[in-house]
Amino acid sequence: MPSSFDWTSLPGPIDLHAHSSASDGTESPAELVRSAARVGLGAVAITDHDTTTGWAAAGEEALRSGVVLIPGVEFSAQLDYRSVHILGYLLDERSEAFLEQRQRIRSERVQRAERMVARIGRDYPLTWQHVLDHADEGATIGRPHIADALVTLGVVTDRTAAFESVLHWRGGYYQPHKAPPPVEAVRIIRAAGGVPVVAHPAARGRAAMERDQLQLLVDNGLAGLEVFHRDNPESDREWLMERAAEFDLIVTGSSDWHGRGKPNLLGENTTTPEALARIVAEASGTAPVVPAQLFA
Ligand code: AMP
Ligand code: FE
Ligand code: FE
Ligand code: ZN
Repeated sequence: MPSSFDWTSLPGPIDLHAHSSASDGTESPAELVRSAARVGLGAVAITDHDTTTGWAAAGEEALRSGVVLIPGVEFSAQLDYRSVHILGYLLDERSEAFLEQRQRIRSERVQRAERMVARIGRDYPLTWQHVLDHADEGATIGRPHIADALVTLGVVTDRTAAFESVLHWRGGYYQPHKAPPPVEAVRIIRAAGGVPVVAHPAARGRAAMERDQLQLLVDNGLAGLEVFHRDNPESDREWLMERAAEFDLIVTGSSDWHGRGKPNLLGENTTTPEALARIVAEASGTAPVVPAQLFA
């Protein structure tokens, strides 16, 4: 892809955060891209939790659908027991450290889900097999798959209801999973030629992303902040924009679409072409997938 590609010429808006069934989205990677085309996006990023297995199918569909695909990942991290998510764009999936980290987190996630299922199984007729029945082969396992199993069993009506009751962190069955600190995720993404962006930085209140912590991440290569995301309270966005200006960070906006699993809609928040241009300019791990017709 020529580095001179003009991102302002994209025929539609840019959404840089979406999940497929390779992790906890309900739609396949190809369907994710078709859905992006259907709502008129010019570019979409596939950012499954701790895996890149959806990239190939999403890339092939992007070429067919005429939508730009930005290969990415959403890394699980942890800071003082709080969960922090770091998005990585255009990184090389063959990087040893990246490979090792995603395998480690995925196996921690399976052990943690098994612990939760064992606890839930004391009160509800839920088994590990039920959970596996609701996840694609090799998918990154998370609470959403347990939620879907609980829906099938008739315990709750949908994923959101499951997250508000049985799966809530105060619901009595919750178990944390181990994950590295965000600074390690930032370093691994940069080492793999990728561009790290803090996902929904104010989703659990700003406490998880204080100025000192941000400074540390910036010193280790952080590139951006996902300011426009439905989970960041409006009241925190000004503070985030000020930090982005202070540290010269790229500002993104995205949906965090999970298909039918969450109310978030593709394109409900978007990223400017200038911000995407900066991300692409900083990346050296993997190229965006740009359909030939967009060069015309
Ligand atoms: P886990 O990572 O296993 O702790 O589960 C949390 C994940 O569930 C996050 O990535 C959420 O985006 C995802 N999720 C999917 N659907 C929902 C929902 N309806 N409510 C809350 N979280 C959800
Ligand atoms: Fe998710
Ligand atoms: Fe997230
Ligand atoms: Zn996400």
